[in-house]
Amino acid sequence: MVYNLLTEKWIPIIRLDGRWERVGICTALREAGRIRQIAASNPMDRVALLRFLLAVLYWCRGNPPGQEEKERVAGDGQFPAEWFDKLEERRECFNLLGEGKRFYQNEAYKQKEPQHTVNYLIHEVPSGTNKWHFRHTMDRVDGLCPACCAMGLIRLPVFATSGGRGMSSSTGKSFGINAKPPLYVVPVGKSLAATLRLSWRTTGLELGTPEWEAPGNKLPQKGEVPLLTGLTWLPRSVWLGDPEEPESVCASCGRKEQLIRRCVFDGKGTSKAEGRLWRDPHVVYGTTSDGKSMSLQTGDALGRTDAAANHWAKTMAGIVKGQGSGVERPIWVVGFSTVQNDKYLEATEWLVSGSGSPQQDQDCAAKLERWQKEGATLARQICPKEKSSSRETPLELRSAVDAIRPEVEARVFAATGDLLAGNDRVWERAASEYRPMMGTIATSLSPGFTTRALQRRNQIADSVPNMTARPEAKPRKPKAKKGGDQ
Ligand SMILES: [Zn+2]
Repeated sequence: MVYNLLTEKWIPIIRLDGRWERVGICTALREAGRIRQIAASNPMDRVALLRFLLAVLYWCRGNPPGQEEKERVAGDGQFPAEWFDKLEERRECFNLLGEGKRFYQNEAYKQKEPQHTVNYLIHEVPSGTNKWHFRHTMDRVDGLCPACCAMGLIRLPVFATSGGRGMSSSTGKSFGINAKPPLYVVPVGKSLAATLRLSWRTTGLELGTPEWEAPGNKLPQKGEVPLLTGLTWLPRSVWLGDPEEPESVCASCGRKEQLIRRCVFDGKGTSKAEGRLWRDPHVVYGTTSDGKSMSLQTGDALGRTDAAANHWAKTMAGIVKGQGSGVERPIWVVGFSTVQNDKYLEATEWLVSGSGSPQQDQDCAAKLERWQKEGATLARQICPKEKSSSRETPLELRSAVDAIRPEVEARVFAATGDLLAGNDRVWERAASEYRPMMGTIATSLSPGFTTRALQRRNQIADSVPNMTARPEAKPRKPKAKKGGDQ
């Protein structure tokens, strides 16, 4: 069995007319103008496949062509079929199985006993002693179909996490080139071709060699990492076992096929290097407080009681500030978060519409920062007046606010597109989303009799994020000088 990824039907797509099917790499690229998008259910697969197809496009056609040719291509929406002739010439690079060279696999591991479960390739399929929630799979009993194995291999450069212990004595499990999986921000168009064109925009890049051409590619220790090397560098050494009879149900996609159950799955040691420079086309970079460049990442929504509420505004502010002007919207954001470095927690995605001029984006970033601050100080705002100078916010107020914020923030987040393009009124409307819940907190914290209790009730019910007053007009909080611990 060879399973060549150029022609085997493994990439799920949806066409512009709504038809769903699986296609090979050749069809995906040659008919990209008639394909709406990649139609895998997990956003991790969609973003990994898109980046892979982008790498193939760069490999076949090089840097984006001049304006004239670009317009010709944009005219009928299709990439000319002859652009991808190189694929057939180098067909052997895309064999997933078989005796010779294999796609994204390291021939040095060919003779090794495939003793690991192939389920390592797909994050959401449990392996080892990981806890099961809705279903469980057994290592080396359940397995994956070749299409899911290919998908798992494609995920490796994009979403590999690091683990403390190495898989063999000399190596450890390292991150991919982007270290802890960052947020991937991708501009999207009306078809797969349009989406690819939006990412295929930087000219004059050094392209280098992709992993499928030179398996076992090494990252340079110093200097700039060429684009194709960076997009396809594998942080693991894999060699798949052979598919086994009889046909059984794939643990990831549920199709009945001959399954691969075992593989060699080894780390590559640390991928860190001081002098290496890699700018990923889909990562938004910001700067840390000490001036270092860092990529924007998803947080752990279970990390703190209010972590789930805080996250979206922080992320959006980072994207709006870090992305720079001239990026087409809508943009599609895919995040992947882990706990304890290598435990898969969740994959999230959202689409940001609305178009912003650079000035609008700047205003919006300021608003988002203000929104975060207001949200974070909400519990303090509902403190009784006589206690407002105390350093600690009473626990019952903190937990009351923490309990409602994720729900309210999720509603505000759903209207992000309006907020990005919006004016003060839109932000006020967002703030008023807090009113019903603050009313409920008010009735639970303060009884409905005595003037004083009623005043307090009103004070709590009226506390919502203040998005209208200018920041400097806000009365400063008294500094907590008194009774400070020395
Ligand atoms: Zn499958």
